[in-house]
Amino acid sequence: MAERAIPIADLRYAAATPRIPEQLTPPSGLLSDRLGRPLHDLRISVTDRCNFRCSYCMPKEIFTNDYGFLPQSSLLSFEEITRLARLFVAHGVHKLRLTGGEPLLRKNVETLIAMLSELRTPDGQPLDLTLTTNATLLARKAQALKDAGLKRVTVSLDALDDAVFRRMNDVDFPVAEVLAGIEEARRVGLGPIKVNMVVKRGTNDHEIVPMARWFREHYDGQVILRFIEFMDVGASNGWRMDDVLPSAQVRERIHEVFPLEPLEPNATGETAERWRYRDGAGEVGLISSVTQAFCGDCNRARLSTEGRLYLCLFASQGQDLRALLRGGASDEQIAAAIGLIWQERGDRYSELRGAMQADTGTGQRRVEMHYIGG
Ligand code: SF4
Repeated sequence: MAERAIPIADLRYAAATPRIPEQLTPPSGLLSDRLGRPLHDLRISVTDRCNFRCSYCMPKEIFTNDYGFLPQSSLLSFEEITRLARLFVAHGVHKLRLTGGEPLLRKNVETLIAMLSELRTPDGQPLDLTLTTNATLLARKAQALKDAGLKRVTVSLDALDDAVFRRMNDVDFPVAEVLAGIEEARRVGLGPIKVNMVVKRGTNDHEIVPMARWFREHYDGQVILRFIEFMDVGASNGWRMDDVLPSAQVRERIHEVFPLEPLEPNATGETAERWRYRDGAGEVGLISSVTQAFCGDCNRARLSTEGRLYLCLFASQGQDLRALLRGGASDEQIAAAIGLIWQERGDRYSELRGAMQADTGTGQRRVEMHYIGG
């Protein structure tokens, strides 16, 4: 895997400067892209650092102690993030998700949450404000996050077996502390809590049923476990199709032990297919990012730690919104630039995956997941 390593600093600094249209049309909240998809969901990466070294995201061989993470001066400040978020909300964004790296590593992230929680949609509604975390710091921070205005959390957990989990996070972090974080998040009311398990064939697929059993039996249906197909995000994780266990097989394995039946989606653009246990013990989600692309409804944009806007998880180039912020552009100009970028969007990588090579061969490399969140 190590010989596939590609330093991402190269691509991080290759961004396009957004075009400001001559006509500064104010946001209508009804933006749509070339494929008719609205802009609904903004994922904001607040740090490119993580304290785990999961092989599918930040493998240790590449992300060493000497790795060139972004300096503090490159990161968007909380004021810059909030200013951009306000403009995205004017364009129709209803949901903000903080990601990383590991977002709880960003100093005083509660202050940012408090600032974002003040934002309202054009019709005066509060936003769905959430955060994805590895939960290493969650037990300590859950109350402060809740007090700051966070609505709910999604926790990444790839195995329940302590030895498997320690091996996967590659920093010897114990499962018990993640479970303590989930428990504390539940206690303070950061729910419904979702737990995401990335399933890699031959690595943790034997943990599917134990994970299902644990989350059925311990949380009164208040924690929703979701299984995610191992994806070819970035260029560091040595992805092979053979490593993907299709969601249909995940479902069969659970169904054999705990019979399932389908549920209707909660909302358009929802990534997870919902199934509930027939005995009423809650539900699970299946995210078939590889075997059943859901680009047709994709309403998500991603803002990197240093203010690059990415239109797809698999994008190779971002639009440098920080250059506009720090170059003195007005809110009207930045909003108009964002509108134009979204209107020109045609990304649908997962639908095209079969016809493309993992590496495009053009010298462009896809952005890494720790840099824009999952
Ligand atoms: S591949 Fe890109 S466009 Fe398709 S669902 Fe994923 S993020 Fe959205």
